[in-house]
Amino acid sequence: MRAMVLDRPGEPLEAREIDVPAPGPEEVLVKVAACGVCRTDLHVVDGDLPDPTLPIVPGHEIVGEVVSCGARVEHLAPGHAVGIPWLGHTCGTCRYCRHGQENLCDTPAFTGYTRQGGYAEYVAADERFAFPLTEAPTAAVAPLLCAGLIGYRSLRLAGDARRIGLYGFGAAAHIVAQLARYEGREVFAFTRAGDAAAQRFARRLGAVWAGASEQSPPELLDAAILYAPVGALVPLALRAVRKGGTVVCAGIHMSDIPSFPYRDLWEERTIRSVANLTRRDGEEFLALAPKVPIETTIEEFPLAAANEALRRLRDGHMTGAAVLIP
Ligand SMILES: [Zn+2]
Ligand SMILES: [Zn+2]
Repeated sequence: MRAMVLDRPGEPLEAREIDVPAPGPEEVLVKVAACGVCRTDLHVVDGDLPDPTLPIVPGHEIVGEVVSCGARVEHLAPGHAVGIPWLGHTCGTCRYCRHGQENLCDTPAFTGYTRQGGYAEYVAADERFAFPLTEAPTAAVAPLLCAGLIGYRSLRLAGDARRIGLYGFGAAAHIVAQLARYEGREVFAFTRAGDAAAQRFARRLGAVWAGASEQSPPELLDAAILYAPVGALVPLALRAVRKGGTVVCAGIHMSDIPSFPYRDLWEERTIRSVANLTRRDGEEFLALAPKVPIETTIEEFPLAAANEALRRLRDGHMTGAAVLIP
């Protein structure tokens, strides 16, 4: 099969012919219809994340069709449409797995990082972490598998905030904005200074205000969610939230957070991170998405153009989500 392979972080992906994976007893083999390009892929390729399995095929926003099943697969069959997310495997026995926090499993595997991902024609997936899809596995659905899922989890961790700030208006924020509006919240979108296109995009998706990250919103926020991997945004977001407000850091990697005066945290403001996802997040979000309905804005790239898609994302030149089509 054709695949885009990372041999060493810091180098471009290489287009290569490799063997179609053989699914294990509890795995399914999936023919990839589309795979979204997530910022986390960029962190894997750039070497921001430690100890990837090398060589690795990146990609964890996978939609496709099951073509064969291992001997112990129970719930999926050839022809089923599935989505495969970042969390690719958990141990099921550690304290986190046993207490509803499998996103924090001590010995997890992550798709496109520590197990082979979806920048390829086929991928093998643990049956338990392949979500059945109710809709066809089209390119527009792919970003729901991470931008959507992590976005959903980050919005839940923001609690019942009515006025919510989204810092970095890319793939995740453009989905969360629709979800937040559906839930009757007000979205305030923060972008790089002067990024008029992203601010227009945010307003079109229902943001009541859009401006630069350095600006103060017209009203104090109940919560802010950071999707941009920029630590300097944390103190800015803290100053934009009200007493008791929460700042949620949704990225897996972020530049260092600069020091800030304690008074900015004082009055019970909270800073927290979001790590990975649980299967429950997946089930809840994938059931909710068609009701909103969430419409993704995507740009399709052929599989061989994965490096180009990653470059566009790195340079901040993507509106919405990039999706690879094998
Ligand atoms: Zn575990
Ligand atoms: Zn992701």
